[in-house]
Parts: sequence; structure tokens; C-alpha cells
Amino acid sequence: MKWSQITLKTLRENPADAEMESHRLLVRSGMIKKLAPGIFSYGFLLLRSIRKFEGILREELGKAGCHEILMPMVQPASLWQLSGRWPHMTELLKFKNKNQHDFCLGATHEEVIVDFVKNDLQSYRDLPTNIYQIQTKYRDEIRPRFGLMRGREFIMKDAYSFDANKDGALQSYEGMRKAYMEIFNRLGVEFTVVQADSGAIGGDLSHEFQVVADHGMDHVLLCNDCGYSANTEVAPVVTKKQGTESWSEAPMEKFSTPGLRSIEDLAKALKLDANQLVKTFFVKYQNAQGDWMDATLLLPGSREVNLIKVKTILGAVAEVEPLSDAEVKKLTGAASGSCGPVGITTQVVMDPLLNQLESFVVGANEDDFHLKNVVPGRDFQVTLDADISQATAGDDCPQCGKPLTEKRGIEVGHIFYLGTKYAEPMGLQFLDENGKSQTVEMGCYGIGVTRSLQAIVEQSHDEDGMMWPKSVAPFSVHVCLLDPEDSELSQWTEKLVKDLESSGVDVFVDDRAERPGIKFKDADLLGFPLRVVVGKRGMDKGEIEVFERKKKQKHVVPADRVYNQCLSLLELCF
Ligand code: ATP
Ligand code: MG
Repeated sequence: MKWSQITLKTLRENPADAEMESHRLLVRSGMIKKLAPGIFSYGFLLLRSIRKFEGILREELGKAGCHEILMPMVQPASLWQLSGRWPHMTELLKFKNKNQHDFCLGATHEEVIVDFVKNDLQSYRDLPTNIYQIQTKYRDEIRPRFGLMRGREFIMKDAYSFDANKDGALQSYEGMRKAYMEIFNRLGVEFTVVQADSGAIGGDLSHEFQVVADHGMDHVLLCNDCGYSANTEVAPVVTKKQGTESWSEAPMEKFSTPGLRSIEDLAKALKLDANQLVKTFFVKYQNAQGDWMDATLLLPGSREVNLIKVKTILGAVAEVEPLSDAEVKKLTGAASGSCGPVGITTQVVMDPLLNQLESFVVGANEDDFHLKNVVPGRDFQVTLDADISQATAGDDCPQCGKPLTEKRGIEVGHIFYLGTKYAEPMGLQFLDENGKSQTVEMGCYGIGVTRSLQAIVEQSHDEDGMMWPKSVAPFSVHVCLLDPEDSELSQWTEKLVKDLESSGVDVFVDDRAERPGIKFKDADLLGFPLRVVVGKRGMDKGEIEVFERKKKQKHVVPADRVYNQCLSLLELCF
């Protein structure tokens, strides 16, 4: 392919709204163009990477025994009402058609796939099976950002497994975990697999595939000793320390704390550590009956609350939300910072880490007053004792007790064991060997195609541009043809391209009438694995330069060896 034949203009300036380097590079290289927030066109070059990635997905999923279909993007509300998700999925873009029937754009396809297989899976003989598609998804993300990382419209590969029983479903899950390892290994990225939250998809076993990157949106905790790894969203906080033998017997006492509204200020004034103070946090959530409830959360002052854990503990059907300052005032009668659990009418969830204290210092629910010597069970009632704190680096590993380390990651894949979460309400049944009706066990498995490609760029770039791994590089070889008007050079280049292409190597030729400096800069920016510089000056000496983008290594080779040199360098590079 020749550059002069396509509409591709690179940009020198960074786009004003791009906060992540990979986002800037994708825009500057013309690989993506924003149409609206979170909605992008994929340019000629990125589409080639997408197609290559899809090829890897098809090969590896084929090996894992999956088969491909394509389901509609527009989905009727009736299916989502059947599964019970219609009222709670905040990311669904809902609309009515001309007949006033409710529809949504596909954010995920559990409901549609169950409908698709319903008539085909009637007997145990029809199981197991595993079906996937590569499809555009739409999620009405509140805050789309970082380009393809958190888009509203994006490409996902989603797969769904169907088994006769839990053992089979867990085997399917394991098979997909292995297939995902192969896929991300072939992509040439550094990644880690972590225990994860199941979110709105549901189920009780799930793992995420995280590409390690300094600016990733996720935080993962790893144990270098035993290999434990989990997203901080789910990592439990464990402590070797025992709870106190007994609570203080001193009576509760109110004291004045003018202007002391934060844990830091209070800790300083009372000469205590933040973890000796109690943080009170108020939330609201919708329960299974659809009623809005308030809850009071108590945790050590040094910890952040983990709302994902809180959601699971409270059995909330959608995201748990912090109360606004006005709502806190209405509930407690005091401003945030002077509030506590004493006299509160909501349910109270207390983190067991607080059992290490002898008594609590908490807000008095009266502006600028706190209470000390507060004892749970005596001065206020605890509804639930549960881990609601965010785990952080340095915490004990839940498996072996050694300190955990923290890394940032980009979630590129997510696998879920679903059990009968969808099959049950949607009536997906089969007849077992004894002719008895049973509910199908399911799993679902997603890979963000477009997010993964940007994650690769985020992990693999330098100050000059992208450094694509050969597996998904838009092209393997970038020829900078410095004197395109020279017919001898052009002919030589055409022959090289033909030879390489016949060996399965794709070549991009920069034949624009631009200065060499511009061509080199653009080649660095686009970041294909190899660059071949074809210029008059070199050719007169019979020499051609072949440059490895990642290693930044230059090889000057005789013109008649360029073809072989390219093949052997590509063979060796990642
Ligand atoms: P996140 O926590 O990042 O919002 P999720 O957990 O909601 O993602 P899943 O439902 O697990 O996402 O979707 C499967 C995969 O689809 C994710 O692992 C990710 O790679 C990709 N994906 C999800 N949301 C987006 C998005 N808004 N933009 C791009 N890719 C996405
Ligand atoms: Mg996920």
C-alpha cells in the first residue's frame, strides 16, 4: 500500500482533550477520529490492526472449540425485562421505535444469546457449546475518556458457554482462561490475571486480564511471594491482629471540636493516628425490591471505603451512591465531618478492622461536636460486620500473609462464571439423561478489541511515537521512499514490496513528496516494526538502511540483501 493512495494526514500538535499518551498518539497518527464524546471512527491503519487482532481471536477461539455468530446490536426491551436487568443497567441507551416499542443498543449480549440458543439446546446431547461474536457495543458511559480506553461505542469480542452442570461450566471457564492467555501472549503485551468483581454481568467467579500500565484506570494488588493477584475492587483486607479483648467501660462523652471536619484535622488535634479514628460514610442504594435505602458505614479513618464490596454486602441491584452533603444534613442534622452512628436510624455496617479499638471517636451529629468512648452494641447498634475497606499496597496477602504490592492496569478482558443467573429467569432448560428438565449453566467472556489495541500503544511507545508488536501492527514494514520521482528507485521498491508480500509480509510505502525528515518522523510516530530507507544517496553506494523501531537498531545492508534481512529481523522481533 502506498501512502499517496490513502487519505492520511498525521498531526504534529497534540489534541487538547487527550490526557493519555496512547490517546494522543492514536489521534496524531490519524488512527482514530472523534465524532462525539466516546464515539470514534477507526482510520485505515487502525482498522488493519483491528482486523489482525480479530484474526488472532478467531484462531485461538476456534482452537478452544468456540464457534462464531453475529447478533443484532438493536435489542428489544422485553428480553432485558425477562432477565430483570432493564431497570438497573444505567449504561443502556434506551429508545422507542415508531410503534412506541422499547429498545436498547447492545451493551452486552447475555439476554440475546439465551434467546438465540433457546430452541437449539433441548437435550444434554446439545451441550456443552461455546458461541462468540465480534460486535460493536454501545454503553452510555457517564464519563467517556482516554480515547478508545473508555468509549461509548467500542468493539468487543464476547463469548458465551453453555453446560449441563456446574463442573462442566467450570471446565469451560478454565478452557477460556487458557485461550485468553494464548491470545494476550500472542498480542505481545505484558499482562496479569486477577480476581475480579462481576459487576452488572453477575455471577460469583470472575477474573480480569489486565495490561500493566502506569496510567491504567484499574488498581491491582499482587503478591510476589505466592502469586495471589486481585483487583483492589475485590481484594479482602485481612489482618493478623486480634480484636480487643473487651470494649472500654468509660461512659460516652461529648466534646467540642470547632472546625475539625476532616480525619486529618481531628487526628492532629487529638494527637491520634488516623487509624485510631472512625470514618463515618453515608450511602444510598436500591434493594432487590427496588426500594431506596440509606446505610451508615464505619471504617478506620486511615482507609478508603470500597463501594463495590458495599454493593455486594448490601445486596444492592445497582451502584451504591454516597449521600450528598444536603442528604447527610437531612439524615443526621449535622454537616459531613460532624456525623456518626449514635442515634442514627439507618442500618449500620461496621468494618471488623474497628474491633482492634477499645472505643470510638465519632461525630456527634451536631455541628462541631464529637463523641468519645463510644462502644458499638452499647451506644449504637451494628446491623452488619463486614469488610468494606479498600485494600492497598503493604496490606497482608490474603493467601500467605506477605505484603502486597500495587500496580496499575488496563482491563482488556474479563471472564465470568454465571451459573444460572440468566438461564433461570429466561427459562433456558434442557432434558438430562433421565429425561428430567434441568437449567443450563452459563459463563461469559469478553475482550475489548479497541481498548486492547490502545492498551498496547499505552504500554509500548516512546517520545517519538508508537511501537507496535508485529502481531497487530497495521503493517510490518514501513518503506521511506526518499526520492519517489526517481523511476529506478521506485521500480526497485516495487520489486521489494512484491517479494515481501509474496512471503506474507505487509508493506507500507511512504511515497509522498515530502522531505526525508518528515518521513522519518512519521515513520517513528506510526511505529511499524521495521523501517527501510530507500534513497538515492544510499543506493548509489549499493546500501540500504533497515531500522528496528523498538530496539532503535540500524542495519546497513547491501541492496540485494534487504529482502532477507527484513524476513530474518521480523522472524526474531516481537
Ligand atoms: P470497566 O470496568 O472498564 O467499565 P466492565 O467491567 O464494565 O469495564 P465488561 O463488561 O467486563 O466491562 O466488558 C468486557 C470488556 O470490554 C472489558 O474487559 C473491556 O476490555 C471492554 N470494555 C468495557 N467497557 C468498555 C468501554 N467503555 N470502552 C472500551 N472497552 C470497554
Ligand atoms: Mg469487566
